[in-house]
Amino acid sequence: MMDNSSFNVKLEDISGMRLSKKAILTSKWALSMEVIEELIKDLSQYKEVGTKDFVTMRDEINNALKGYNDAKINLKNWIALQDKITGISIERKLLDATAEINKNYTIKSKVWQTETVETSYHNTLCSRCNTLCHERCGLQYTINTNANIFTGCACMDDVKCNVCSCDYTVHFHDKKKPVRVEKEITSVLAGMKEKYEVSTKNYEIKSKEESKCILESEDCNNKVKSAQQKITESVKRLLVVNPDYNILNEIEYDIKKNQHELDNEKDMKIRTEKNSIIKALTEIAHSISSLFK
Ligand SMILES: [Zn+2]
Ligand SMILES: [Zn+2]
Ligand SMILES: [Zn+2]
Repeated sequence: MMDNSSFNVKLEDISGMRLSKKAILTSKWALSMEVIEELIKDLSQYKEVGTKDFVTMRDEINNALKGYNDAKINLKNWIALQDKITGISIERKLLDATAEINKNYTIKSKVWQTETVETSYHNTLCSRCNTLCHERCGLQYTINTNANIFTGCACMDDVKCNVCSCDYTVHFHDKKKPVRVEKEITSVLAGMKEKYEVSTKNYEIKSKEESKCILESEDCNNKVKSAQQKITESVKRLLVVNPDYNILNEIEYDIKKNQHELDNEKDMKIRTEKNSIIKALTEIAHSISSLFK
């Protein structure tokens, strides 16, 4: 206990005192002064520590609240990105479906064509209508067209061919014959091709955009986690310097403010977004509250 009984004596009383009493008082005074000195010493020490703690406390409150705000901003960004990803994903699927519908822009069809093939024997052919009029002609082979011998060919009815109806003068011999062959031809439907190419190209663009948004969304998610980590660390340091300061009050107040905004919101989309943010913020508050045991 501090001996400060000398404080009860006023200065004007001291002058009128007898010396002996004065001496006692002086010693008491000295003792009091010693106690005071001790107190001041202690107080100055307290003051020093207190200021340092106050600065730490102020910094950690700021850090925690900044972390909380960072978490909130990144949660909002994250939710906006989920919306964007959903939109892009729908567009991408539509483009994929359009490409799928139009992918068969080439049509393969079969047509009959006439081709000339080599034969080991000679035939009577018509140069006007490209007809095989007598295969394996029994007449002697001739290189001449317009030869009289063709009147004797099995296909001739006198001077007219009974196969192609042309005159014998346009017939000739050759070791080849025309044959009908079935050929597959490919035709391109330009409109479909363009739709396929445009939708395929846009599908690629949308896919890249979607991947970019997914990366950004992961980044936001990581930022929320690191903000949460920051809050936890700050709250832990805050608890060391001032176990009575509960930062949760400020965070819970903000959550209530958000809840109030949600209650007054009519737009369903915004309501859903706000609800997700509140849920995430409540989880953060819950994780902080576990630090106060
Ligand atoms: Zn013949
Ligand atoms: Zn003929
Ligand atoms: Zn003919």
